[in-house]
Amino acid sequence: MERNTVKLQGLNIDTFTFEQAVNYAKSTSGQVVTINPEMINNAVKNSQFADIINSAELVIPDGIGVEIGLKILGHKVRRIAGIEFAHRIVEECAKDRLSVALIGAKPEIVQKAKENLMKECSDLYITYVQDGYFKDDEKIFNELKIRQPRLVLCALGSPKQEEFIFKAKNLLPEALFIGVGGSFDVWSGAVKRAPVIYQKLGLEWLYRTVKEPKRFKRIFPTLPLFVLKVLREKFIPKGV
Ligand code: UDP
Repeated sequence: MERNTVKLQGLNIDTFTFEQAVNYAKSTSGQVVTINPEMINNAVKNSQFADIINSAELVIPDGIGVEIGLKILGHKVRRIAGIEFAHRIVEECAKDRLSVALIGAKPEIVQKAKENLMKECSDLYITYVQDGYFKDDEKIFNELKIRQPRLVLCALGSPKQEEFIFKAKNLLPEALFIGVGGSFDVWSGAVKRAPVIYQKLGLEWLYRTVKEPKRFKRIFPTLPLFVLKVLREKFIPKGV
């Protein structure tokens, strides 16, 4: 299966449907980025981060913001929730008896996420669990090289998880790495996802912002600013 990407703010975004993205991920290794407007804004300011995204093996549009941005540019691409995508890849690993590593979040959170995933997916092999507050990347790389997991989920927040994966992927050429943000917090039960109606309407960000007011300052200006930037990308040619 070939990738078919479109450009948004200079970044390559894949146009796969959910099922196509799952099939593609199963047949490949390397870095999966679940991209949102906040990450795109960061990439516009930070070319090293943009290079990491553009060298990823798969970039899935996570959330309504990216879907709207692509729509403005004339691309009809449906959003794929990173948390659902990552969960599905875990299920696929369980079916195929492939091993999984979990890296990120607080120690009790990642442990609980592991327990819950093992309850949900029979035959799941989680062979490595590490919280996300380590200082020494090299130690983690060495431990991963010994375990050789097929799937490595990294919940370190962005851009930390993307930078970590970028370094790790060359050391484990057979592994698939996905940056999963706050997914372990949800899988552990510590954080609730928005009710399905918010998810369907693309308003999960609003629900989270109201539930976690400290996110407000971070998240709120992001979406309108991002939309303005994409409108500029559409109507004002580069260099003007
Ligand atoms: N996190 C981590 N190490 C760090 C910073 C954050 O493991 O140095 C974890 C944090 O505990 C949380 C996850 O990264 O589980 C995602 O954090 P956040 O909610 O900020 O990310 P988002 O989902 O908004 O990208």
